[in-house]
Amino acid sequence: MTMNDTILRLYAKGAGLRGLVCCTTGLAQEAARRHEATPMAAALLAEGLTAAALLGGLLKVQQRVALKIETDGPLGKLVAEADAYGRVRGYVAEPGLAWPLPIDRESRANALGREGLLTVVTDLGLRDLHHGAVTLQQGAIEASLLHYFHKSEQTPTLARLDAALDDQGALAAAGGLLFQPLPGVDAAILTRVADNLAAMPSTAAALAAGQTLQQIAAQALEGIPYTVLEEQPLAFACSCSRQRSRQALKVLSEDDLLALIVEGEAVIDCHFCHQRYIFDREELAAILDEVESDALATMFEESDT
Ligand SMILES: [Zn+2]
Repeated sequence: MTMNDTILRLYAKGAGLRGLVCCTTGLAQEAARRHEATPMAAALLAEGLTAAALLGGLLKVQQRVALKIETDGPLGKLVAEADAYGRVRGYVAEPGLAWPLPIDRESRANALGREGLLTVVTDLGLRDLHHGAVTLQQGAIEASLLHYFHKSEQTPTLARLDAALDDQGALAAAGGLLFQPLPGVDAAILTRVADNLAAMPSTAAALAAGQTLQQIAAQALEGIPYTVLEEQPLAFACSCSRQRSRQALKVLSEDDLLALIVEGEAVIDCHFCHQRYIFDREELAAILDEVESDALATMFEESDT
């Protein structure tokens, strides 16, 4: 039986440690399918989505987080987002990136790129955004994420992002884990977890072999008493809608709208999920009407003051 996408929140009170363990296989497969991603693109996207899921696991209600990687590498760009409710989405600039198998650490770094920037934007709610940016480390999302926590959040962190492909290059499993000492606790506690991890298979390999997140958590925290605070489902989910696409069209200039009307239709293809929203001539004309009357209303408002 395959593990459903889930994130576990772990708390080791005595040791002063908090942790997250997640399975992202289903959502990463869904993303790969929607983007028609090659094995390399699917593997890197899975790592990015797992990173977003873990960052999402640190959020409070109503908060959201976006992770963006821009590099000189052939993948170009990777964007992954998550919210506090376990909704995750993402895309890469070049989902069709062809690459010979097998896909290992070295080839992933070559595809992702060696020089670049990792940006994390956290929407803390009430339009309060927190930006953090660090340079890409070793051409790896995992190393760059650790660097981000160290540099931008000054939080010692242990994290693993894993994606496992089968012999044909299809995404077999994806998952990850993250541990941080509680404020004021010596970071040395992380070395105990790191020692445990060194004796374990990767999270994705463990998941592919049928292990549960509870079993993976127990191995990672062997010798450290802990409790599972919460089990939250994760899913690929996009916040796009026909209404939002319509709003995007309303931002266009009247000339641009007229050009679309002449063409006969406007197609808006969501970057994140590839849902297509088609607006026909009649609907575009209605949007143009609204834009024109809004412009008139603004003109009158301005002349009033
Ligand atoms: Zn979408």
